Amino acid sequence: GVDVRVDTSVRGASAGRVLLSDGTDVAADLIIEATGVLPDTSLAAAAGLRIGESGAIWVDDTQRTSDPLIYAVGDGAEKVDAISGGPTRIAMAGLANRHGRAAADSIADSAGD
Ligand SMILES: Cc1cc2nc3c(=O)[nH]c(=O)nc-3n(C[C@H](O)[C@H](O)[C@H](O)COP(=O)(O)OP(=O)(O)OC[C@H]3O[C@@H](n4cnc5c(N)ncnc54)[C@H](O)[C@@H]3O)c2cc1C
Repeated sequence: GVDVRVDTSVRGASAGRVLLSDGTDVAADLIIEATGVLPDTSLAAAAGLRIGESGAIWVDDTQRTSDPLIYAVGDGAEKVDAISGGPTRIAMAGLANRHGRAAADSIADSAGD
């Protein structure tokens, strides 16, 4: 009984109605916006940094990118999936914060190099 619409997107919404890009107008009691957000890693790619299998910026376990003088943290940086062990992209503020600390520790540790 679920009406799935593909190849169309929302162009506008008002009380009880959703206007789609294919011109149809759908009645709605409740509208839930659940759009995905992806970090833009094109600047890193254009700078020649390695992009991981997940599409995020490849980093080692100290958040260093393929250029050892550049660190990447947060949403744009690739993570290790806790279940599969494979590369993944996850957008969570807690991880971004921990990445920042890990990168700072690494920079401080290597400050005398
Ligand atoms: C609607 C929403 C709800 C969320 N809710 C939660 C939640 O409940 N819990 C949770 O853990 N996480 C949540 N998140 C995810 C969380 O916000 C992110 O994981 C976190 O902010 C990532 O931190 P970041 O430093 O990687 O990126 P950001 O916080 O996005 O910071 C990146 C910064 O870089 C700036 N920037 C981009 N391009 C350039 C450029 N070319 N030059 C200079 N500056 C640039 C941007 O303006 C921005 O200030 C939510 C995200 C969204 C969008």
